[in-house]
Amino acid sequence: MKITIHRGTHEIGGTLVEVKSENSRILVDAGYPLLLNGKPVDTENVYVWFPYLYGKFIEQGILPDVKGLYCWDKPMFNAVIVSHAHIDHYGLLSFINSSIPVYMSRGTRKIIDISVPFHEEPLYLSNVCEFDMYEPFQIGDFRVMPFLMDHSAFDAAAFEISDQEKTIIYTGDFRGHGRKSACLARFIAKAKKGADALLVEGTILGRRDEEVITEQEFEELLVKKIEGFKGPVLFQSSTQNIDRLVSFYRAAVRLDRIFVIDTYIANILYELRRLGNNNLPYPSVHYPNIRVLKPSQVMLRFLKRIGKQHFAKRFSVKYIQEDELNRIQYKIIMAVRPSMWENIRSANLQNGLFIYSLWSGYRNNDYQKEFEVLLSKTGFSIHELHTGGHATLSDIKKVLQELKPKKIIPIHTMAPELLRNLSEQVLLKKDGETFCI
Ligand SMILES: [Zn+2]
Ligand SMILES: [Zn+2]
Repeated sequence: MKITIHRGTHEIGGTLVEVKSENSRILVDAGYPLLLNGKPVDTENVYVWFPYLYGKFIEQGILPDVKGLYCWDKPMFNAVIVSHAHIDHYGLLSFINSSIPVYMSRGTRKIIDISVPFHEEPLYLSNVCEFDMYEPFQIGDFRVMPFLMDHSAFDAAAFEISDQEKTIIYTGDFRGHGRKSACLARFIAKAKKGADALLVEGTILGRRDEEVITEQEFEELLVKKIEGFKGPVLFQSSTQNIDRLVSFYRAAVRLDRIFVIDTYIANILYELRRLGNNNLPYPSVHYPNIRVLKPSQVMLRFLKRIGKQHFAKRFSVKYIQEDELNRIQYKIIMAVRPSMWENIRSANLQNGLFIYSLWSGYRNNDYQKEFEVLLSKTGFSIHELHTGGHATLSDIKKVLQELKPKKIIPIHTMAPELLRNLSEQVLLKKDGETFCI
């Protein structure tokens, strides 16, 4: 078995891992880089070029130079498998040759499907094969076993990939302190012990190993913060972070507040609930304290995309207009984004709490700063309350100790060398280097 980490040996996100046997070749994750030369990628310019200057993407480093993968090449991959619905793991799918099947979990597919109108790239999920967690599937020589993982994206997977001789395990992004923390124990119990290689995420390496709170502790802190407060509560979190949305929803129920979400989040909760096997709250008669706001920019995105118009037409019975929002503002907990400033302004929401609930690194851009300045000027006090989506050092240590892989390769990290402090089996690789196991 040969492995090439095309990107991700020394960076967080943009992951692409190729696994090759004599007759088969698969790609694990097709991630968009979060940073390029230390700066966020300017997607606007990228898609102006598309599709005329393919070479530019490779020259710029947005696409690693992988033969037989992209839409302008003769396809030479059996499949791409996607671990979860974060852009740094699926964002390059729009460049992949459409005759190559793409495997993903049902939840991942739903989230990507609803998110497509909000990206600039023309992504069509035409050749998708869905897998169920803990149900192995075959791609050429490879048997792939997906494990459900606890992460800040819903329905995230780790993969155990075997051919006739060797087995590797790819953790994907994971953690052990979310609402699905039992998944980590299940992964440790069920994944192969003594695998030939483990590719383990190390986002936390080199970062301050801040004291991580569980999602349940997050909910308690949230309730404590809001309890007794009489004004509007606005929060900003990731739309894929279902654990976090549930925490805000539960706080709203406990504090007898109205949970206001926009049509984007409403569709995600509705579609995920429809998958079954979960008890997610969603806008319906069964959840009377959920109301749906229809920001025009979100509605336009859905209405302009072929095949996505139905997302704009749901939830009319749960719809809340801005004048009603204004009247009941003292009892709302509402999900917002900087693009919703106009809705906040026209509903005249003021003198409230704004809770930023994302990684602080995303906060450092002009768009976000401007949003928070506008909120401050309308009397909002700004707070940050968050718990991360990635494994702590002790979670990583537990995985290494219990799975006892022969080789350990850090990935999705800025400081892979620090993993050597945890094990002697650690091998450091470079992007694009092919190695045998
Ligand atoms: Zn990631
Ligand atoms: Zn992720």
